[in-house]
Amino acid sequence: RLKSETRNSYLFFHDDMGDALMKQLILGNELRQAQEKQEFVLYYQFQMDLIKNKISGVEALIRWNHPSKGLLTPNEFLGEASEIGMIAEIDDWVMKSAFCEMKRWHKKGYLDLEIAINISKQQFERASFVECVNSALVFSQINPATVCLEITENIALNDIEESVEKIKQLKDLGVKVALDDFGTGYSSLSQLKNFPVDVLKIDPSFMIDSSGDDRDAALVKTIIHMAKLLGYAVVCEGIETADQLNFIREEQCDYAQGYFIGRPVPVAQLEKILVSSKLNRVNV
Ligand code: C2E
Ligand code: MG
Ligand code: MG
Ligand code: MG
Repeated sequence: RLKSETRNSYLFFHDDMGDALMKQLILGNELRQAQEKQEFVLYYQFQMDLIKNKISGVEALIRWNHPSKGLLTPNEFLGEASEIGMIAEIDDWVMKSAFCEMKRWHKKGYLDLEIAINISKQQFERASFVECVNSALVFSQINPATVCLEITENIALNDIEESVEKIKQLKDLGVKVALDDFGTGYSSLSQLKNFPVDVLKIDPSFMIDSSGDDRDAALVKTIIHMAKLLGYAVVCEGIETADQLNFIREEQCDYAQGYFIGRPVPVAQLEKILVSSKLNRVNV
């Protein structure tokens, strides 16, 4: 009896594995075709300058318009894209598309609108990465000073010396570099001070509602103050309420991003919001 049970559960397990594997294979195949079928789209989320009190830029966030499953968010497919070695190619497409889109906005007179894009580990570690960024800059003719590349601290920490060197090369191109999801990784403060990045983006998991724990508030305050003392510009992500916005503003945080300021939107909606925003458009 015991044996057959084992066998059954083995079979069951095996079937299950097959199922998961099959799903993965299908997803992988669909991903490979997605690029060709132009199913990837970019959504943009505003970042707000808390000192000038206006929109300062947008972050490009990829979506996959899947033929049967609808609009998928990055967490639903970037892992698989990474498994099948497609992520660098996707990031490259994102970079070129977002830069070209932003160049269009600059031409419309929104000269100082910044564009932030996310860089995966595979993309960052490519030997040709700096060259890729350079060719996207040249291709789009965008002003490098309006570009911010977001890497996570775990990517940066993988090989510190090499990362520092790469970040320096990127900065030589004139772009900014941000540490995304700051606070969730393993970097220590002593390591942080060695990274020549411009911006720290504090992870949403640190954002608290104002009724919340005093120690949470103390933590956010401390991170903001420490980052500013070290000379970084600070973005608080995941701002969902007016109270949170007021709180970080009082703590002299530089930039805010989150649903309270705006959800990620497709480019047509971005246009509507920009036109009615306080962003200073220059006549060109
Ligand atoms: P991220 O770079 O930290 O981007 C912020 C994420 O938080 C976005 O999720 C955004 O929709 C979400 N978010 C924004 N405001 C709020 C808020 O107020 N509350 C909450 N709870 N969430 C908020 P999304 O678009 O699902 O992207 C998830 C992650 O996927 C990104 O995190 C980024 O790491 C990655 N990602 C997105 N686009 C790309 C891309 O083109 N290339 C690469 N390599 N990674 C990307
Ligand atoms: Mg990001
Ligand atoms: Mg983040
Ligand atoms: Mg993230």
